[in-house]
Amino acid sequence: MGAATAWRLARRGHDVEIHEQFHIGHMRGSSHGRSRIVRLAYPEPEWVEFAEQAFAGWRELEAESDERLLELYGLLELVGDPATSSRDALEARGAEYELLEAEAARARWPIAVPDGWTVLFQPEAGIVRADLAWQAFVDAAAKAGAKLHESSRVEALADLDADVVVVTAGPWAGRLLEPEGIDLPVKVTRETVAYFALDGPPLPSVVRLDPETRDHAMYSLRDPVHGLKAGAHHAGPETDPDEDGLPDLGLLDQISVWVGETYTDVDPEPLGAETCVYTTTADESFVLERHGRIVVGSPCSGHGFKFAPAVGDRLAKLATG
Ligand SMILES: Cc1cc2nc3c(=O)[nH]c(=O)nc-3n(C[C@H](O)[C@H](O)[C@H](O)COP(=O)(O)OP(=O)(O)OC[C@H]3O[C@@H](n4cnc5c(N)ncnc54)[C@H](O)[C@@H]3O)c2cc1C
Repeated sequence: MGAATAWRLARRGHDVEIHEQFHIGHMRGSSHGRSRIVRLAYPEPEWVEFAEQAFAGWRELEAESDERLLELYGLLELVGDPATSSRDALEARGAEYELLEAEAARARWPIAVPDGWTVLFQPEAGIVRADLAWQAFVDAAAKAGAKLHESSRVEALADLDADVVVVTAGPWAGRLLEPEGIDLPVKVTRETVAYFALDGPPLPSVVRLDPETRDHAMYSLRDPVHGLKAGAHHAGPETDPDEDGLPDLGLLDQISVWVGETYTDVDPEPLGAETCVYTTTADESFVLERHGRIVVGSPCSGHGFKFAPAVGDRLAKLATG
């Protein structure tokens, strides 16, 4: 999010400095790894519109960096009740989708859909290459004049001599903002993801909705190296981002069982696993706000990556508005 904001600000001619306590690509926060799900499928039209703005931004960054960042194999939203799907919001935005019965979906993809369930197929979706995207934002920002300081941990915002400070410190943001009297009501959790061997043509990303909460329960997406990445949404323990953490073995089992049940051609034995940190608000919305010279960007809740170009735009406008 900081790199996306720096890109937007530097392109608009502002004098931008980026401070990163580790290095671009490090694995201690929320943005590492090779892939993230991108989709328009959200239950509310305003989120679909926000995702549409982000897709336009990804295309801009692809053109500027001459990199293919989006790989659009589609998204399958598995729901017990079609009324809980993203159908109405997509309809309201005129976005393309198909609703399929379980049998029809099973005939089309090697995915085991429970009898009586419905699948919403949303074609303008798939993955963004997370590692390439993070670097592309940084490179594009630098090309536009931004200065990157790696291994540069900011101890206090007051130490920064700048007209505006944009704080996109992920799970560390709260402790930077507190001394400034800015409260950031978020929960920080360490999530577990796993990788599985999947050969053959890329499959759509998959989200399985919890019939009770309508929230995403399990998800999976293409991994460019192993073939498949999968995880359990909002399932990890609370954590301190400065502490080291290992994949949760119980979650690994849960993910492996789900992969075994869902993918007819995949060996559910994980090839690898890692952790990644969520910074979550109570309603999974994003905190994008300004307090004097401080702009706060906390756009995660486990679903922020896809919005980065649009988040960068909004934070840049807050910083210069
Ligand atoms: C397991 C997992 C799966 C996900 N899946 C998806 C998905 O499929 N689709 C999707 O859209 N989103 C997904 N997300 C969410 C998405 O990855 C995050 O919302 C996004 O990466 C958040 O980026 P960020 O820049 O806010 O946070 P980070 O990437 O955590 O960035 C914060 C940066 O600030 C630096 N920093 C902190 N404190 C300081 C300091 N004092 N001085 C200097 N630097 C500092 C940190 O080192 C870090 O690099 C997922 C997240 C996880 C964890």
